[in-house]
Amino acid sequence: MQLDFSFLRRALIPPGAPVTPPPPCRKKTAAQTPKKSKAQSFPPEFEAGTLETKARQLLAEVGCAVLAQKLQVRWNSRMRSTAGMAYPTRVLVTLNPRLISFGPEEVDRTLRHELAHLVAHARVGRRRIAAHGPEWRQACIDLGLLDERRCHDLPLPKRSIRRSHFYQCPACGTELARVRPLKRKSACLACCKKHARGKYDERFRFVKIARSKTEPV
Ligand SMILES: [Zn+2]
Ligand SMILES: [Zn+2]
Repeated sequence: MQLDFSFLRRALIPPGAPVTPPPPCRKKTAAQTPKKSKAQSFPPEFEAGTLETKARQLLAEVGCAVLAQKLQVRWNSRMRSTAGMAYPTRVLVTLNPRLISFGPEEVDRTLRHELAHLVAHARVGRRRIAAHGPEWRQACIDLGLLDERRCHDLPLPKRSIRRSHFYQCPACGTELARVRPLKRKSACLACCKKHARGKYDERFRFVKIARSKTEPV
């Protein structure tokens, strides 16, 4: 019998879909800056204003009072695979709303990653620096990201994929989102590993649910 295991973050990618790494954080000129996106409602902890206040505090703590005053944080629902963007000249950080489905830690990490770009630019003045060079790494450390990688590695799809079939592990609640319905029996890998020595176990077979509880709509 063929088994189709999926778990954790991979559960958000339709099996068989090519996993392409997101591009490195790009800096764009003001002319390419996306227009303000339509207002979207977020849980209070993820509201742009809440994140902006937190980010301003972080900037003030690393001695960037001017940046702290000017900073704007916005969600941009038109972002595809890029988790976040920093616009040093506009003192603006934009975040991809899909980040929310990866939890508050990813939102926080991405916010700090992008803030580090602003801090690095502010510190060097007019000098040109590499986007993810030593100045940026130092800024990451100052902002509390001790081991930040150059690229965001969220498995965000390149193009918007409509995943309308949702499944859930009856034991741990892990969700699986699929473009097409599952044809074969599929079980939660995490639970099978933990409780069934890695073998397929009917107790952890994914159960169809009406809609995702974690994916943004
Ligand atoms: Zn970056
Ligand atoms: Zn499970």
